Amino acid sequence: MIKRIGVLTSGGDSPGMNAAIRAVVRSALARGIEVMAIEDGYKGMVEGKMRLMERRDVSDIILRGGTIIGSARLPEFKELAVREQAVAMLKSNGVEAVVVIGGDGTYRGAMALTAMGINCIGLPGTIDNDVPSSDYTIGFDTALNTVIEAIDKLRDTSSSHHRCSVVEVMGNHCGDLALFAGLSCGAELIITPEQGYVESEVLEKIRHLDEVRKKRHAIVVISEKITDANALAQKISTVSSFSGRATVLGHIQRGGSPTAFDRVLATRMGDYAVELLANGVGGHCVGMIDNEITSMPIDDALALPRRDRTALHALHERLI
Ligand code: ADP
Repeated sequence: MIKRIGVLTSGGDSPGMNAAIRAVVRSALARGIEVMAIEDGYKGMVEGKMRLMERRDVSDIILRGGTIIGSARLPEFKELAVREQAVAMLKSNGVEAVVVIGGDGTYRGAMALTAMGINCIGLPGTIDNDVPSSDYTIGFDTALNTVIEAIDKLRDTSSSHHRCSVVEVMGNHCGDLALFAGLSCGAELIITPEQGYVESEVLEKIRHLDEVRKKRHAIVVISEKITDANALAQKISTVSSFSGRATVLGHIQRGGSPTAFDRVLATRMGDYAVELLANGVGGHCVGMIDNEITSMPIDDALALPRRDRTALHALHERLI
């Protein structure tokens, strides 16, 4: 029977990571397994920054955004010698297995560690919803609600000033945050990496909304890393009677207290990860598929195609 596990958060932080840490700690202790928090992701693992956690150490964190154990990026973790150092640190601290919370980069690290004899289980902690082995990632729902609140406010001022608001949201090459936010806010246009971007077509659609549909305002939600939102807003001002204004939401999307959905998701997933490790499973990642908490090998998860969102985009088109 496994005696001691570790838990870490890695890559970009997301609301609900703390709820997952709490679940891992308390679920392990309830099963008679000790838990060490590893600070600052794989960086802290290599440096041996880890401490034993008691039940009380995770009191009052379920409602807090961010991660109380810190997160970091360590590109050198791809190097075998660096991972060997990490394995030595884990062994000297008696840590036999680890729950890692992060995105697909974090999953790759977990797979590499498992191949070196340290069983790892990955939990999807990212606001981007870009991990196809789970219908939803921990933090997506909270970020989505943050985005919606901001867009609803922009709508008020847009309609008062015959404005076209271009709102850039995060997503890291995944359009889910833009798509779900656009659907939730009744945006006129949703631009995502999956649907592609042709500037002339976007400007033509805006002109149509302005001249033919006589819209008082228009909201364009666009995923980050597609085009410069400010430049797009300027062009909209040039080709239509709208005054184009860009808002780049940035890191406010990452913060805040997790929603009930994210807290429950993180809690269920954290508990499941401990159960897997207690059963000797490693190299898997946990996901929620059709409301069931499940797991699959990380290499299968990383090979999954992106989700097809064509039907949701078509639904949006019908409602504009
Ligand atoms: P995310 O987990 O959110 O995708 P990153 O891509 O930054 O974030 O990955 C987080 C960390 O995971 C990296 O800083 C690195 O330490 C580790 N990592 C990423 N890719 C690999 C890999 N191929 N092998 C080993 N470790 C990796």
